[in-house]
Formats: sequence, C-alpha cells, structure tokens
Amino acid sequence: MDNLLNFNHFQLAEYFESLGERPFRAKQLMRWIHRFGVSDFEQMTDIAKDLRAKLKLQAEITPPAIKLEQISDDGTRKWLIDAGNDNGIETVFIPEEDRGTLCVSSQVGCALECTFCSTGRQGFNRNLNVSEIIGQLWVANHALREDPYYGQLTKDDRIISNVVMMGMGEPLANYDNVVTSMQIMLDDSAYGLSRRRVTLSTSGLVPAMDRLKEDCPVALAVSLHAPNDELRDILVPINRKYPIKMLMEACERYLVKAPRDFVTFEYVMLDGVNDTISHANQVLEIVKHLPCKFNLIPFNPFPNSGYQASSQENIKNFRDVLMQAGYVVTTRKTRGDDIDAACGQLAGNVQDRTRRSIRINSVQGVIT
Ligand code: SAH
Ligand code: SF4
Repeated sequence: MDNLLNFNHFQLAEYFESLGERPFRAKQLMRWIHRFGVSDFEQMTDIAKDLRAKLKLQAEITPPAIKLEQISDDGTRKWLIDAGNDNGIETVFIPEEDRGTLCVSSQVGCALECTFCSTGRQGFNRNLNVSEIIGQLWVANHALREDPYYGQLTKDDRIISNVVMMGMGEPLANYDNVVTSMQIMLDDSAYGLSRRRVTLSTSGLVPAMDRLKEDCPVALAVSLHAPNDELRDILVPINRKYPIKMLMEACERYLVKAPRDFVTFEYVMLDGVNDTISHANQVLEIVKHLPCKFNLIPFNPFPNSGYQASSQENIKNFRDVLMQAGYVVTTRKTRGDDIDAACGQLAGNVQDRTRRSIRINSVQGVIT
C-alpha cells in the first residue's frame, strides 16, 4: 500500500500519471488529505467513483498514531506519537493570542549530542519519514478540531498558523524528508503556510544550509549557544566540524534567499557557562556584519543534565548588552513546562541504536 501522506504535490501528480490518471487529480487529493484532513477515499466526493475504488485497492492515508495527549495549564498541548518498535516522538502546540505554533520533530532522538539537550542525551534511532513529519500537522489538526474551543473555527481557518522545526532531532540531518514535508506545509492546496511562517532550526550543518536556501528557503534559526569555538565545541559538538566562522558565512549566504532579512540566533542560557557580560560582548563580535535577532532560551532542566538555568539577573544583563548594540532580543517564555513540553525537554521514547563512545565520529561521517 502506498501511503499518500508521503507525497508532495509533484510526487502525487507523478503517482496519478503512473496510474494512467490525469495529474491535476493531485490538487484535489492534496486538498482532501491536508486541508480537510480526510483519510477515507469514499468521502472525496469530487473524485470519480471508479478512481476512488482504484485508490482504495492500492493506496492509503495513514497518519501516525497518538499514544498520549497532555494539555498544560497554559493551553500548550503535547502529543506523544508512535514511531514503531517502542519509539515515540513528540509534537507540541503552543497557542498564543495571534497565532498557533506547532513544534515538529524530525528524527527519533538526535545524534548530535549537544550536552544541554535532553533529546541529544537520548541517543539516535532513525529519521522520520514524510508521513510521520507532515503527519504531525495532520494529527494535531485533527485533535485540535475536536476541541470545542478550536472546533468552532470553519474548516478553512488555520488553527496551526506557524510551524517551527524545533522538536526532536536535527532537521537538516534528515534533509530530503524534511524538505518534502515543508513543501507540503507551503503548498496552497495543502497547509498554505507562507515561508515566513515556517522556521527551521539547525545546530549548524553548513552544507545542508546551502542546499536549503536553494530548495526550500524558509525562515532560519541557528542554535548558536556559545560565542567562541572553544566553548561551542563542547556545547554543540558539530562545531568541531563546522566552526563559528564557517557558520556565520553560511548564514550570510542564506540571507540572500531567506524570506526574512535576518537570521535568528538561539542562545540557551546556562548558569556560569555561557551567560556572562564578556560572553555577550564576544557574541557581538562574531555576528558583526550579519543582520540577525536573538532568542535567549532559559535552560530547561532535565534529570542529570549537569547544568543550571541562568538567573533572571544574568539573562537581563546579557540581553541588555545585545540590545544596547541595537539588536532585537526576545527571551523565550517557557511554555508547557508542567508537561515537559518546553524546548529541549522533548525526550519521547528512543531506543538508542548508536554506541555512545563512537557516536560522534561516525555521525559526523553520516551527515556531510
Ligand atoms: N536540532 C535543532 C532543533 C531542535 S531544538 C537545533 O538544535 O537547532 C530547538 C532549540 O532548543 C535549539 O536551539 C536547542 O539548542 C534548544 N535546546 C535544547 N535543549 C534545551 C534545553 N534543555 N533548554 C533550553 N533549550 C534547549
Ligand atoms: Fe540535536 Fe538540536 Fe538537541 Fe543538539 S540541540 S542534540 S542538534 S536536537
């Protein structure tokens, strides 16, 4: 059976051609599947009966299964989604006054081992396929539409107005599936989000950033977290392969095609590690000449992390240095921490297939 959730518009058109059907059917199917969330071919009333019957024989629309839904006091929702073999991934919906943001996972675990990240600590199992990535929008939309609060919206209203590829995993390490999924997010017949409303966050896989700017230039966030190579080599080990100078140059190149005229740098605030005034001044030095904004993320603790969150005062002092230099700085609100849905707390359920001791070297081989 072909799971049609795996196909973008173009691939669906090819699929219909291979069935001897006209490719424009793809547009109808994209609307039924993604805009209206229909999984039963019988409900697709503008598709001819014999084609529906044909599809039923060889195709399916099978979203991933929800294992658990949790709702935080602040309205944030987290779904644990089945990824087979005892694996689970997490998806988080964050409602705000003017938007609803879905935080989407791209891998079961992550192989990059950033030392302050709970996902990184879990190890890596596998890449998600397209039906599991776009399936997170599909199942979240379904669950939200069943809620009386959101359900009153008509089918064409977007409950999910923004997507951030900031869940579990490094999206650029699962490049093809993530790009195909984002093409479906942007497709007018499917979710119809603008490129500015889809943000990909990366720890800095430079060659893949260069590809992304050609293939699907969405808004870019980069996990900086340290202002010099010595410290970043430890916190974000992929820095040993793509050090700060290379990363900054890649950001500059990306901006030529980006939907926004700045890059957002994420910076997790770790007490006594990367949060001093001197660190802030070093940050100013490395981003010189690059149009950017900063998003300071209070560290979200998890058991045995070995790190502590910076004090409010240190965060404020750090922020002031950047702001006085003329930068826009936001400090991320911690949402949904009563259900462990905050950044870096997503751990899902990962059957680690990598051997920790050799992981870094082998992984660096894989993601070039
Ligand atoms: N792998 C991608 C995207 C996922 S994480 C990346 O690293 O960019 C989204 C953001 O949360 C990243 O900036 C990540 O570094 C940050 N993060 C990870 N663990 C965290 C923690 N414990 N507390 C706060 N932020 C964390
Ligand atoms: Fe992976 Fe991002 Fe976590 Fe680093 S911060 S381990 S790249 S998910």
